[in-house]
Amino acid sequence: MDEFDFVVVGAGSSGAPIVDRLTASGRHSVLLLEAGPDDNTNRWLSIPLGFAKTFLDPNVNWKFATQPEAELGGRRVYWPRGKVVGGSSAINGMVYVRGLASDYDRWRQMGNQGWSFDDCLPYFKRLEAYPGGASDLHGGDGPVKITQDEYRNEIGETFLAACAEVGLPSIADFNGRGEEGSGLYHATVSDGRRVSTGRAYLAPARRRSNCRVVTGALVERINVADGRATGVTYRKDGQTVTVQARCEVVVSAGAVGSPQLLQLSGIGPAALLGGFGIPVVRDLAGVGENLQDHWGVRSTYRTWWRLTVNDDINLYHRRLSAMVEYALLRTGPLTASPAFAGAFVRLMPQSDEPDTQLHFFPWSTDRIDRGPHKFSGFTILTNQSRPESRGHIRISSPDPAAPPAIVANYLSSDLDRQATVAGVKFVRLLARTTALSRILTEELLPGVEAWSDEDFLDHARKEGQSAYHPVGTCRMGSDAGAVVDARLRVHGIAGLRVADASIMPILVSGNTNAACMMIGEKAADLILADAR
Ligand SMILES: Cc1cc2nc3c(=O)[nH]c(=O)nc-3n(C[C@H](O)[C@H](O)[C@H](O)COP(=O)(O)OP(=O)(O)OC[C@H]3O[C@@H](n4cnc5c(N)ncnc54)[C@H](O)[C@@H]3O)c2cc1C
Repeated sequence: MDEFDFVVVGAGSSGAPIVDRLTASGRHSVLLLEAGPDDNTNRWLSIPLGFAKTFLDPNVNWKFATQPEAELGGRRVYWPRGKVVGGSSAINGMVYVRGLASDYDRWRQMGNQGWSFDDCLPYFKRLEAYPGGASDLHGGDGPVKITQDEYRNEIGETFLAACAEVGLPSIADFNGRGEEGSGLYHATVSDGRRVSTGRAYLAPARRRSNCRVVTGALVERINVADGRATGVTYRKDGQTVTVQARCEVVVSAGAVGSPQLLQLSGIGPAALLGGFGIPVVRDLAGVGENLQDHWGVRSTYRTWWRLTVNDDINLYHRRLSAMVEYALLRTGPLTASPAFAGAFVRLMPQSDEPDTQLHFFPWSTDRIDRGPHKFSGFTILTNQSRPESRGHIRISSPDPAAPPAIVANYLSSDLDRQATVAGVKFVRLLARTTALSRILTEELLPGVEAWSDEDFLDHARKEGQSAYHPVGTCRMGSDAGAVVDARLRVHGIAGLRVADASIMPILVSGNTNAACMMIGEKAADLILADAR
């Protein structure tokens, strides 16, 4: 049986930094097990506009879906998740947003020592190579290259002009302490290529002799003896393999994979495990609970201005020139991340900080698998930043290859419904500004016939979608519902940690990749300190 100091499960946003930092210490051997393939197996993974190509590709995407959602008239909601080296950072929208400083302060106020914004900031700085270099808020020479204006589009400038017209201040950097306003997003794109954690962290880590990466390895069980994790059992090419972890097993399988793996290993709610005949190793009621996600609602518009990504794809000469430009210079429309501008706004009377995020997409579609509309169009997505709705993820079978049952309970809170309606109405207000109305020819969604709060809520129920930010299913804390402590150690099992999106007690007020990479960076320090 193979033996390593550490076995890490999942090569995603959090797992990759952990493996890099543990192997760079030179003191430990590390085995990284990833269910998906290597990231050099699909050329679309490195091209920013390739987002649309990997969004539904089962070779690199778990392609989960929720159970029929009660508030959405029984609709199932599509949940893409990266199944490839780099995890979801290899297929995501590349927006780099850390969230509000108060998000992390709230984690600390819940009793999680070491997780205030000031505690997390050094780890954000450590991961960043921020444009403009190091400052009191940013890192200048970290592994994750971040840019702001690799691709710009005049329609995006029009969106920003509309935001200015309604009085929103212009924000140069959303990754400050969290002011209200609009601006260009920073993106994990550099030199015209996506910066996934596979590229940023694992490419250097894999050159070290103490690092071993096995892809196509689905971890089926964490092995526990006498209350201590001893290793894992995984399946690759039809073979079952058991490996030993001398120090620790670190689970970074994401907000879906981590609670699923714990439950399959007998760590979770006893009644759920008993129902599938899984022997209970540790009765932990919170495993899979506390699920939170952002509910995104699109407003789409037709425009006469042939400057959208739709036109870059639909018009033969534009498509050809985009491909040539990318091949020769690594610039142009193919370097566009899906959303390059946005805003954080305060819409609810009770909010004293931004409560809603907007993404501006210079393209429009009915269904991403059918490609963009055949005409020029753009989209504005709105989502409430801190939803109250809570769902859960529970195994649906003892078979590790079976997807778990995901119940997100979107829009199950009154506040969430009100805030979502407020977001859609705000987008309508933007569309009525001189800047945007001058270029619009038609509102496709929600459509001009929608005008009451009920209409907007109906639209949110019928057309809303996941913003792809599920978190919280192995929540950090010290109460009975918590799964890990503030050092990310699983309660009641020695030698086992969880480090990824699932440990967030509350969803951050923005996109989640930056927070997940920070969690990986911080987890690595905790692990190394405890290994001494
Ligand atoms: C389509 C999409 C768009 C997004 N857009 C943005 C964006 O623009 N900006 C942003 O900040 N965030 C975005 N996100 C969210 C962000 O990317 C994720 O929150 C983040 O990557 C999650 O990191 P993680 O480490 O928790 O999990 P992941 O990065 O998903 O990593 C988990 C890894 O574990 C592997 N794994 C799971 N189970 C097993 C198992 N049993 N055995 C072995 N391996 C396993 C998976 O294959 C995966 O590689 C987006 C996500 C998606 C899916």
